[in-house]
Amino acid sequence: MAENLKRADRLAVIGELSARMAHEIRNPLAAISGSVQLISQGNGIPEADRQLLAIVLRETDRLNGLITDFLAYARPNQPAKGSVNLYALVAEIASLLVPDRRFGAARIVNGVDSDFTLPIDSDQFRQVLLNLLVNAAEAMSGSGAIVIDADRIDEIRSGGEKRSVYRITVADDGCGMDQKTVSQIFEPFYTTKASGTGLGLATVYRIVEAHGGRITVESTEGKGTLFTIYIPVQGND
Ligand code: ADP
Ligand code: MG
Repeated sequence: MAENLKRADRLAVIGELSARMAHEIRNPLAAISGSVQLISQGNGIPEADRQLLAIVLRETDRLNGLITDFLAYARPNQPAKGSVNLYALVAEIASLLVPDRRFGAARIVNGVDSDFTLPIDSDQFRQVLLNLLVNAAEAMSGSGAIVIDADRIDEIRSGGEKRSVYRITVADDGCGMDQKTVSQIFEPFYTTKASGTGLGLATVYRIVEAHGGRITVESTEGKGTLFTIYIPVQGND
């Protein structure tokens, strides 16, 4: 037991150090990308050099994205739960995502009842939904629909007693995954994408867990994927 605690302490220290390190990398990165942007706006730059500068910019953007994802994963906060209207949160995220180039022509169908509220940290769940929706869009190569729904159900627990949970589903009709992929998607840094960070679903998992909930996934190759999040109704435990 004492050994385990020591290990947990060590991991916490490593987590904190790497989060600080990631944070410190941001400033020089901003200076690099700002300077390169200024240089590339100058006159008389040969086309070949301009292309190289574009590569520097693209890659600094990528590093910035990696650091943003890493910090979201490495610095988990205790959720500050409030009563959040899920319909409004989905609508807000949809309006952010639709103009995003990663999103292509994917459609978001907000099937949540307009008065559906549940006890969650709205910033953390914005991140959860964003990560799930971006993945869904990336799995759909541009077209198709992502359907978000929510309800409240009674779960029968192993002891036979009932408890109420909120259930949120995110379904897409994208490429789906084979079972081997499904078994690894929540692991940090697991990605099948050329420029993925593999931190999206690891962060989703962490946040759902911190809310006392759980997330499941069902997927069929070539057909699509369904993520289901269960969040306990407060006062259950
Ligand atoms: P990233 O998106 O950076 O690859 P994630 O943690 O968000 O990292 O996702 C991990 C992997 O899970 C993806 O690379 C992809 O293979 C798979 N995946 C996640 N969501 C979906 C989805 N909706 N449809 C198909 N595959 C998915
Ligand atoms: Mg992702």
